Amino acid sequence: MIITLKHGTTDQQMNDFIDSWKQKGFGVHVSKGENLTILGLLGDTSSLDTEMVSANPFVDTVQRVSAPYKMASRTFHPENSVIKVGSTSFGNGEIPVIAGPCSVETEEQVISIAKDVKAAGAKLLRGGAFKPRTSPYSFQGLGEKGLQFLVAAKKETGLPIVTELMDIRQLKYFDDVDVIQIGARNMQNFDLLKEMGKVGKPILLKRGMAATVKELLMSAEYIMASGNENVILCERGVRTFDNYTRNCLDVSIVPYLHKVSHLPIIIDPSHACGQRWMVPELAKAAVACNTDGLIIEVHNNPEKALCDGEQSLHPTEFASLMKILPQIAAINGRNV
Ligand code: PEP
Ligand code: MN
Repeated sequence: MIITLKHGTTDQQMNDFIDSWKQKGFGVHVSKGENLTILGLLGDTSSLDTEMVSANPFVDTVQRVSAPYKMASRTFHPENSVIKVGSTSFGNGEIPVIAGPCSVETEEQVISIAKDVKAAGAKLLRGGAFKPRTSPYSFQGLGEKGLQFLVAAKKETGLPIVTELMDIRQLKYFDDVDVIQIGARNMQNFDLLKEMGKVGKPILLKRGMAATVKELLMSAEYIMASGNENVILCERGVRTFDNYTRNCLDVSIVPYLHKVSHLPIIIDPSHACGQRWMVPELAKAAVACNTDGLIIEVHNNPEKALCDGEQSLHPTEFASLMKILPQIAAINGRNV
């Protein structure tokens, strides 16, 4: 249930009102805009009488929210959420690009790629240290050592780092990580999502390969309802009946999420198509349809990469793409 307070309601009146709901067992989410204060009641509001709530002298309007996700919905929070990472923001009209290898392999590799992607205009560095691999016999990532190499690359270049956490026991290595990625395979690991609600870092939540948009939003809701509202959503392709690409990039998700949610949505063209030659075209399509960011795999020796080499751009290909993207972004009045 969404309760809009009348203009002129004092902080004291608002706090008393909020306390009265908390005493009845509801959670209350407060969204203070320039002109409006909106309270979102969390919990089972089905038995509440909207007319009784409206009878309160400082209540302006009362609205039921039909979507099962509340905190993630735009009705709860009409303005875009802007998620700050270092000097970069997601959701404020910029299109930050996150780039780097699928997996951290050596310190030299990740530092060299970090320098290249930074020179080309990337705002954040990605790189997996804990890798979710389909086969237990494939390279599983360097783990703690990989994170140390990523942090070394951050120190060298100043780029904030994004890396995947698969298990809460790994969190102790994440002190210097700027954005925690929850990968497609863990999108519905609800206990992990609840734990992500307790960390004070932005979460990059990737859509599961067979997850509906509603399920993605419900997973974001888990993180938000557990205390962390800094969630960046990521479309990375879903499985369909066809397999001519690794996954099928669902670009419709961008305008749809902009309509129903205030959270930023970024696109991962690399895992969507799985083929290097196609990545630049999909990245351009994502920017054209107003994505709030991109995450792109880049490797300095893709043929020898230990993971996802076939979809990784060479630094020179990445640099060429980064020259074109601002022209497309300009059509929508945005910057890359
Ligand atoms: C990755 O980013 O390297 C990755 C494994 O992504 P996803 O969870 O989307 O498959
Ligand atoms: Mn990958």
